[in-house]
Amino acid sequence: MKVRAQIGMVLNLDKCIGCHTCSVTCKNVWTSRQGVEYAWFNNVETKPGVGYPNDWENQDRWKGGWKRHASGKITPKQGGKWRTLAGLFSNPNMPSIDDYYEPFTFDYEHLQKSPEAKTMPTAQPVSVITGKKMKKINSGPNWEEILGGEFEKRSKDKNFENTQKEIYGQFENTFMMYLPRLCEHCLNPACVAACPSGAIYKREEDGIVLIDQDKCRGWRMCVSACPYKKIYFNWESGKSEKCTFCYPRIEAGEPTVCSETCVGRIRYLGVLLYDADRIEASASVEDEQNLYHAQLDMFLDPEDPEVIRAAKAEGIPDSWLEAARRSPVYKMAIDWKIAFPLHPEYRTLPMVWYVPPLSPIQNAAAKGQVGLNGIIPDVKSLRIPLTYLANMLTAGEERPVQLALERMLAMRAYMRGRHVDGVAMPELL
Ligand code: SF4
Ligand code: SF4
Repeated sequence: MKVRAQIGMVLNLDKCIGCHTCSVTCKNVWTSRQGVEYAWFNNVETKPGVGYPNDWENQDRWKGGWKRHASGKITPKQGGKWRTLAGLFSNPNMPSIDDYYEPFTFDYEHLQKSPEAKTMPTAQPVSVITGKKMKKINSGPNWEEILGGEFEKRSKDKNFENTQKEIYGQFENTFMMYLPRLCEHCLNPACVAACPSGAIYKREEDGIVLIDQDKCRGWRMCVSACPYKKIYFNWESGKSEKCTFCYPRIEAGEPTVCSETCVGRIRYLGVLLYDADRIEASASVEDEQNLYHAQLDMFLDPEDPEVIRAAKAEGIPDSWLEAARRSPVYKMAIDWKIAFPLHPEYRTLPMVWYVPPLSPIQNAAAKGQVGLNGIIPDVKSLRIPLTYLANMLTAGEERPVQLALERMLAMRAYMRGRHVDGVAMPELL
């Protein structure tokens, strides 16, 4: 057993209000510079939707993440042959500025002085490539919130993330949710494996993945290799950049900027202990339906005396062992199993976990189940389809997501039915 410590994050999607405060504060601290105007180390997407950059989940197009071979070995989809000289000079699998967005300066003068107009200004939809063919897709900020009908068309694309084709585009069945995203600080990072310069490294002490700016030669293999598209090329410095998990703040015992400023208080930081000897086996599991469970097997119980002994022998300090014992990430992701990785099928073993949203309001209200009466709505009456959440969080396996939602519904009903010091919880909420 080779014990390692990893800092991770859980985001409770049930509480995200899509205010983008996290993105703006992160940008102010890390990317308000020339060369990275278009870059958002943290961004918040409306799902279902094409996301940022456009179509990032389509790995047929970008060739990100790891490929599992018949022999059971895994290799990064970028790297290997791409490390040859010819490959380095022709890396085609990168988003262009149109796939991100063209940064603009807000025109305050015209905001104040423009004459009254009959209609609101509208954003122009853009075209993107899906799969191997050029195809038109409407997208833009919050486009998906407005035009539910587009989902039906997109879902006919076999590469589209969701398999529940029939439910999209019907007014009464449209749904949306917010998905805040940042670098996953993966245990098996494809960006590290793909870099020809050896510039990207995973810190031994806390698992944060960083790019050494002195070593980066701007090959941009990492931009292609990262299946989450969370590495950005700085056109001024000619180097790649990414989320640093606010490591100077973490080292000073402070939370990341996005966590500290989150309006919904949806973000939890914590330490996980894992067995580094099991990374390759977990990342190369054959059965995709079992990937999520296989990933969990790697994590170690921070209360187990044998684990503590092994961790100390590896030099993990007592303060980190204490943090692992008190870790909300361990509780939610490993112990209670209510938080899940994003797209475990990319095989990078991501370390940002998501509590799926309940959002039972619409259907549950129709059944008279919303309110403070402590009745638990049926999980099938949830507004966001289970299949959709499972495709995003457990490589399609619905049962773990359903169990998590049922646990959260039960907890909500319990808390709402509770009395504290003679006062009913609803009155305290
Ligand atoms: Fe690397 Fe982060 Fe992408 Fe994982 S999410 S492959 S650590 S850039
Ligand atoms: Fe969601 Fe918090 Fe970001 Fe607002 S600040 S969008 S609530 S994660």
